Amino acid sequence: MRIDVLTLFPGMFVGPLDESIIKRARESGRLDLEIHNLRDYTHDRHRTVDDRPFGGGPGMLLKPEPIFEAVEALRREGTRTVLLSPSGRVFTQPVARELAELPHLLLVCGSYEGVDERAREVLMDDEVSIGDYVLTNGALPAMVLIDAVTRLLPGVLGHEESAADESFSAGVLEGPHYTRPAEFRGMKVPEVLLSGNHAEIARWRADQARQRTVLRRPDLLRSGSSAPDGE
Ligand code: SAM
Repeated sequence: MRIDVLTLFPGMFVGPLDESIIKRARESGRLDLEIHNLRDYTHDRHRTVDDRPFGGGPGMLLKPEPIFEAVEALRREGTRTVLLSPSGRVFTQPVARELAELPHLLLVCGSYEGVDERAREVLMDDEVSIGDYVLTNGALPAMVLIDAVTRLLPGVLGHEESAADESFSAGVLEGPHYTRPAEFRGMKVPEVLLSGNHAEIARWRADQARQRTVLRRPDLLRSGSSAPDGE
């Protein structure tokens, strides 16, 4: 998959996407990621990307011209252009799965008070929020999206790290896990996990996952919002 990111802060992407599974995905070519500086699409001496909002109000807005020029240069046949925005649809595992099917994402990071509405209306195919809170700019949301999508790409996770049993994949949270030692400070691992009975273990795990979901996220069970097919 190809992902292009348009941001005012390319430096923020150095580090988080150069480690661990994402690093491996990039090295193996499963993820082809490029970060672009919005200022490279300006033409004035000061490389201006923002201006005051018409009608007054606090803060600055990203001007339409550089965004139009950048998106028109970077998108191609099959691209999904996605604006990171608190007003977007909420990013969930089903949305990650949907995006992971696409050949090319162009992620547009807002800054300041956001982007000129004309850029949003005309250029964006999709608008995604990573949750009901406001961050300083779209770089962290873009990295969250890239991480969640990349680990779903074929071949990125090894068998040991499979995404199939993780929280949200089966519509429930993941249940508890234990590793050695079997007893630690008087706390014992549940007997069933030591039994070697795989059917019993699978039943216990499914039961634990459901109980945990009922306790912590009953909304998932009601809405089916993280069911494998998404919806
Ligand atoms: N004035 C905007 C509002 O009230 O919705 C908030 C702008 S925010 C300070 C600047 C940029 O950060 C946004 O344009 C967006 O790109 C990004 N951003 C902030 N919070 C976000 C979130 N929860 N999800 C996705 N992007 C977010």
